[in-house]
Amino acid sequence: MVSAFVSLGGVSGISGIRGLKKSSRRRNLVWMDAGNGNGNGASTAPLPKDAMKDQSGMMDLDLTGSVPRRNTRAVRVGDILIGGANPVVIQSMINEDTMDIDGSYRAIRKLHEEGCEIVRLTVPSLAHAHAVGFIKEKLRTEYEDVPLVADVHHNGMRIALEVAKHVDKVRINPGLYVYEKPDPNRVEYTEEDFKKLAEQMKEKLEPLIVSLRDQGKAMRIGVNHGSLAERMLFTYGDTPEGMVESALECIRICRELDFHNLIISMKASKVPVMLSAYRLLAQRLEAEGMNYPLHLGVTEAGDGEYGRIKSTLGIGTLLAEGIGDTIRVSLTEDPVKEIPVGYGILQGLGLRRTMVEYVACPSCGRTLFNLETVLHEVREATKHMPGLSIAVMGCIVNGPGEMADADYGYVGRGPGTIALYRGREEIRVVPEEDGVQELIRLLQGDGVWVDPPELSAEQEETVEAEAVAA
Ligand code: SF4
Repeated sequence: MVSAFVSLGGVSGISGIRGLKKSSRRRNLVWMDAGNGNGNGASTAPLPKDAMKDQSGMMDLDLTGSVPRRNTRAVRVGDILIGGANPVVIQSMINEDTMDIDGSYRAIRKLHEEGCEIVRLTVPSLAHAHAVGFIKEKLRTEYEDVPLVADVHHNGMRIALEVAKHVDKVRINPGLYVYEKPDPNRVEYTEEDFKKLAEQMKEKLEPLIVSLRDQGKAMRIGVNHGSLAERMLFTYGDTPEGMVESALECIRICRELDFHNLIISMKASKVPVMLSAYRLLAQRLEAEGMNYPLHLGVTEAGDGEYGRIKSTLGIGTLLAEGIGDTIRVSLTEDPVKEIPVGYGILQGLGLRRTMVEYVACPSCGRTLFNLETVLHEVREATKHMPGLSIAVMGCIVNGPGEMADADYGYVGRGPGTIALYRGREEIRVVPEEDGVQELIRLLQGDGVWVDPPELSAEQEETVEAEAVAA
């Protein structure tokens, strides 16, 4: 099987693989230099020799300390490219009624200002499809041409055709696009029945495919575990295989019509099901020589801490394996709250650097100051400088050795004193009460410091309200 993965390592991961000998164990990989944190700059190089089979033989182990990426084609959605050597894209969905043009406009704009790069909205009727045209126009004239995705559901052919004129991508759910109410008395699905419905799917999808193809727009084939077509359930069961077959059927129809602006998703609310479905899909696409990018998400993940944990487990696990080109963290909360979680997942894996990376020890009996308070102060002073890595460590005994290659370090030196580090070099020792200011001075002296952006009146009010609430 031919496989092509792209490695997205940090700076050290990349330098670590240069000059290594060609391995005969595995295929060639495409390595991508992510030193700038944006994941640009793909280059080809042989697999390093330290990538080897694990003892179980189940998977290859990549010991370079970098995250691979499945090599996909790039698909354009408005001015954003998904897949290829492009950074993993963050997207979300508004929950306003799409008929509320002003409300939808405000929600899309708010999400986009928070860092959401593609915004989806639901389009349950033709009237909603027309409303999307007005929303898009309002965005273009009063803000920016934010890439929009329309979600169409049950028998949504006419709706999809209309909304395809206004958005950059249409998402269809194969289980609902040609929808027949499940028959509780049915005991079997003959091959003939299956073929008949597959033909219907082709007929109904063709006009949309042609429209999107001719406009240079994209389609997401978004399979959901909970809404597989009855014929898929009868044939493959309620399984990852059924989900993958459902997507493959649509993909083949698109390919017959020479349409390749495709992005595929396999969402499920159970993380193990979702993992299996995406892994199987990646394998099947590869086996059939197809390289479409994948959209990752755990659907109905819920809210709060557990919703975030589930999303991180599902999305993060696949990204760590090289699978996934765009992500949506689904939370039962204001969608704006999904964006930092998405960025956190990408930053944690070294796939994007949109924040300062803070390294901090958990503190212990050796800790020489209130680590939680100091970490908060350091973060407040420096969080506006993404790309930087700053360590806050409790003691000189283990702190400097465990700072994980941070750019700067703030380390407890002795009672009431702090040592400031540049990399692994101790630069100065200062009284604890001056620690944060001295760190800023060090950054200024190194030419690294940038002044924090001025807050708008609205932002200042929010900060004050948060301070009062705290
Ligand atoms: S760095 Fe020092 S203070 Fe922090 S956990 Fe390790 S030993 Fe304890």
